[in-house]
Amino acid sequence: MENTEIARIFTEIADLLEIRGENPFRVRSYRNAGLIIEGLPVSLESIVERDEASLEDIPGIGKSIHEKIVEILKTGKCRFHQELLKEVSPGLLEVLKISGIGPKKVKLLADRLGIRSVDDLEKAAREHRLHELPGMGERSEQKILKAVEGYKTLRIASRRFRLSVAYPYARNYVEYLRAVPGIIDIEIAGSLRRWKDTIGDVDILVTCRKGAYVMKRFIEYPDVREVVARGETKSTVILKVGLQVDLRVLEKKSFGAALQYFTGSKSHNIAVRDRARRMGLKVSEYGVFDERTGRRVAGEKEEDVYRAVGLEWMAPELRENRGEIEAAESGRLPVLVEERDIKGDLHVHTTESDGANTLEEMVEAAIERGYEYIAVTDHSKAVGIAHGLDEKRLLKQIEDIERLNERLKDSGKRFRVLKGTEVDIRADGTLDLSPDILKRLDCVVAAVHSGFNMTGKKMTERIVKALGTGLVNILAHPTGRLIGTREPYEVDMEKVMSAAKKYGVFMELNSYPERLDLNDSYCMLARDKGILVSIATDSHGSLHLDHVIYGIHTARRGWLEKKDVLNTRSLSELLKLLRRS
Ligand SMILES: [Zn+2]
Ligand SMILES: [Zn+2]
Repeated sequence: MENTEIARIFTEIADLLEIRGENPFRVRSYRNAGLIIEGLPVSLESIVERDEASLEDIPGIGKSIHEKIVEILKTGKCRFHQELLKEVSPGLLEVLKISGIGPKKVKLLADRLGIRSVDDLEKAAREHRLHELPGMGERSEQKILKAVEGYKTLRIASRRFRLSVAYPYARNYVEYLRAVPGIIDIEIAGSLRRWKDTIGDVDILVTCRKGAYVMKRFIEYPDVREVVARGETKSTVILKVGLQVDLRVLEKKSFGAALQYFTGSKSHNIAVRDRARRMGLKVSEYGVFDERTGRRVAGEKEEDVYRAVGLEWMAPELRENRGEIEAAESGRLPVLVEERDIKGDLHVHTTESDGANTLEEMVEAAIERGYEYIAVTDHSKAVGIAHGLDEKRLLKQIEDIERLNERLKDSGKRFRVLKGTEVDIRADGTLDLSPDILKRLDCVVAAVHSGFNMTGKKMTERIVKALGTGLVNILAHPTGRLIGTREPYEVDMEKVMSAAKKYGVFMELNSYPERLDLNDSYCMLARDKGILVSIATDSHGSLHLDHVIYGIHTARRGWLEKKDVLNTRSLSELLKLLRRS
């Protein structure tokens, strides 16, 4: 069973408990477990097979969650979850997703009006039956109808998968197919090759020797739930997790053209085709052809397809028709940042707040990755649920880090642990720790973690005020979005970035798979304003350091080069940049 399915069960338990009015800490522990499991880079199944006890090394996985994971892996379901579902109707889980309707209201709607689903709710609102309820009037009925409409649109959008979910599935599938005898070339195309933050379906392209059993092996993949179509050159399956995967078998001579075509984006391809037409050429998934004579000009290699229309080959992340054609024409394509350029991570948590690994373990993992530095940025006290640090505990951590740095130096390691914090930006824009202690730190990361519902004007003022203290180095997850579950809060990023530039604050691109915040367009805005971006993982465990890959590709979608990224700098350069007046 895949992590996403297990994660879904825990998220539903959290929702069901919430509807029942359970203790918020209990609810939170299930909800966190869901998020954590979904973000894990390895499958729970393999962890349990290897060493079941190590489950509890994962942040946020305590004993009770541990037992349920094992139960789900063994039996395919969780008894506790099933019992809750008997008690609370599953349609109410959907009602809970309507904005403005909290768990208490869901319970009220169910008990008083017998509402069991979103459709029931919509009907009741149209029939003006809601205003019989305490605290509801005609205006709330209108609001609910609007919210139901919004929910229905979002539900269509949420059929897409997060990059971090689709990517491991696709990679495993490709590894499996690569081993099929007779396969020659194999590539992932589509939005996944462009590393979009959400993925509709996965396209895999192959060439193979005649008579290879590629299609047969494709549909036999153990994770397939349903074979939608099976043909000689194209088949489609749905995986158990719900993800659609298409496989196309191509002729060698058109592999490059097909790769270009199926990578997209649509608007990029339209621009390429228009350009070709003006040159008397026709570009299709089969190749590039002379329009007059029908002669094939290119097709086997993707580079040749671009060259045929007078363009340099460009990285898939750029192919969104945002100026890449013009840049490729004039040899001004950006030299995009790469994984090997990253020298350290400026946002990681330890067991002091809500991380799973100790300071020493995080440092060891970072050294193993070949990093030169990390900044330890545990939460501050306002984030009580994450066991945030007050001044006294932070002071103690500062001393621990100083001692650790001494030890590292003595052992001849070229690695530095930066003293940091992820200080909470309070609702009024003040910081959650005293200036005295913030001044003692190497790297102050600041972030909003609550009060998301204020107006855009208020939120912008709040953040700008925090940046204006002169105590902040980096603004973490600047828009607060959680992909597929929480929209960004309302904020004027143009104003926030202008303030950041003025006060010497850097922007974070948080690589945590649910966040990817800044997104690609805001990366471009940061670059245009001359603000360096910190590609950080917000790791809550040493395994999460690998998430940096999602941040790097998002940065590449935002056209960022090595020079645009803060943590490509050497330690000494970085320390200079982090110096606050
Ligand atoms: Zn945070
Ligand atoms: Zn964090």
